[in-house]
Amino acid sequence: MIDSRERQYLEQARLFANITLESVQHLLVRCDRLNLERGEHLLEAGAANSNLYLILDGELRVYLTDRNLPAQAVLGAGDCVGEMSLLDGQAASALVLAAKDSKLIAVPHEVLWSLVDSSHGVARNLLAILSGRMRESNRALVALQNRSLEFEEAAAVDPLTWIHSRRWMLEAFPRAMARCERDKAPLSLVIADIDLFKNFNERFGYLAGDAVLRRMARRLADGLRAQDLIARSGGEEFVILLPNSSLEQALPIAERLRELVAIGCGLPTDQGVTLSCGVARMLPGESLDELISRADAALRRAKENGRDRVEVAG
Ligand code: GH3
Ligand code: MG
Ligand code: MG
Repeated sequence: MIDSRERQYLEQARLFANITLESVQHLLVRCDRLNLERGEHLLEAGAANSNLYLILDGELRVYLTDRNLPAQAVLGAGDCVGEMSLLDGQAASALVLAAKDSKLIAVPHEVLWSLVDSSHGVARNLLAILSGRMRESNRALVALQNRSLEFEEAAAVDPLTWIHSRRWMLEAFPRAMARCERDKAPLSLVIADIDLFKNFNERFGYLAGDAVLRRMARRLADGLRAQDLIARSGGEEFVILLPNSSLEQALPIAERLRELVAIGCGLPTDQGVTLSCGVARMLPGESLDELISRADAALRRAKENGRDRVEVAG
């Protein structure tokens, strides 16, 4: 017989919702009762499991991978666990442990199938429990996808300056180049590099250098047209793509950026910070690497010729 205390617990069980316990108690008396202490494992991923567990009291947590990550599910009185193994006959798919001292009933699979055979209500409740579990998994999957999108976006943005990163540049610039190539429109690229920035850091400190980089990035980005693209390609170097721009159009843009920086970014320490630029126009069929290396050669010439100037690739 089921005692009155256990009956109270069983009346909350989702498996027995809307059915009378009398109709199933002859099967339930055949099941073992189980007490788990807090921290004890009930199921381990990969281990065989031949029971469905009804939770009468306490709290269980389900961990899919690492127990140091947040639990996939928190289960309490009235819930059950272990139903996946019941359906596919395979080992447990998750770690399940007691988060509090817990009381359970272990329903062997063959007893559960007898319950299903003898009661439509139990069958219906089991389906509802399983679909709830699937919904939870779908929700977890969507959350995971959103997280990975966030990570992708994070990688596209440079964390110091908040303008686009080198990684983003390597994807976005070739697309813009292909569009101009297809439309037979000109396109130019500018590499802008801060002059003697190592000296600046030595004199004013690395944090002051970081502040200059942030202000300068903002100023460069604000000085561009809507169609232009800019990325921090590394260190104290920015790469700017100017679609639909011949050298004649790109040169004054690069000059303006250089002047914007030369008048200071508004920080007490940045007087005298200057920028050198190399400009190149895309040749037919040229790759981003090739275009950058020609602009880089022009930049080196700007450094050799005294810095704080713009040079054009031949
Ligand atoms: P040049 O005019 O020839 O470009 O001289 P430079 O000193 O600017 O060039 P170099 O390549 O020798 O040194 C680049 C310096 O940029 C070294 C490094 O301290 C500084 N730098 C690179 N990344 C950062 C950064 O994120 N923050 C700060 N504060 N400094 C940086
Ligand atoms: Mg430099
Ligand atoms: Mg450099």
